[in-house]
Amino acid sequence: MNQSIDLPAGIRRPTLPNIRPMSLRIVHYNEPVLRTKGEKVITFDAALAELATEMVETMHEAGGIGLAAQQVGRPLQLCVVDLREADAEFTWEIDGARPPLDLFMPLVLANPKLSVAPGTSESSLEEGCLSFPKIRGEITRPEAISVKFQDERGVPHQLACDGLFARCIQHEIDHLNCVLFIERMARATRAEIDEAVKTLARETKAAAKNKSS
Ligand SMILES: [Zn+2]
Repeated sequence: MNQSIDLPAGIRRPTLPNIRPMSLRIVHYNEPVLRTKGEKVITFDAALAELATEMVETMHEAGGIGLAAQQVGRPLQLCVVDLREADAEFTWEIDGARPPLDLFMPLVLANPKLSVAPGTSESSLEEGCLSFPKIRGEITRPEAISVKFQDERGVPHQLACDGLFARCIQHEIDHLNCVLFIERMARATRAEIDEAVKTLARETKAAAKNKSS
């Protein structure tokens, strides 16, 4: 069947739902939802899958490698990561195998449970956050982690990873538990960005006021 819709010139094409997900507004510091612990994901349905897809789209558009549900205004235990474009060396094992990144990314993690083996070495790296535009700072975190999570269909998985992959997941799980990266910085690093953080908070407050008036 060869169906086509001919539209008169000058008339917009109808908006078809679910062709391409809408990108979501990214919440900036210090909107209260960033301080709200994510609720456990219980229902794995089409709405959840759609939210995850929209989060992935939003993360890609913003050029990020990870995004937590709080950052799109939804306090849930849900985050997405995609490190296919990341310029970094890291290793991973998912469900006991080491598939190419393309086979499992973008990765949706619901209800992630992080564990760090005792004695794991730590490393420092500069991090950014889509909720803190242009603000960056060095953070020390464990170099390797393992995490149990469910995918968007509720299927349980076990992931072990290191390097930037491990760092990214730790950053996102922090969001789910309303820990922001500025709280992980050493005192001196935090002091260096303090002005920028305060300015951002003021801008966010002003934007919210403009919207409500
Ligand atoms: Zn972040």
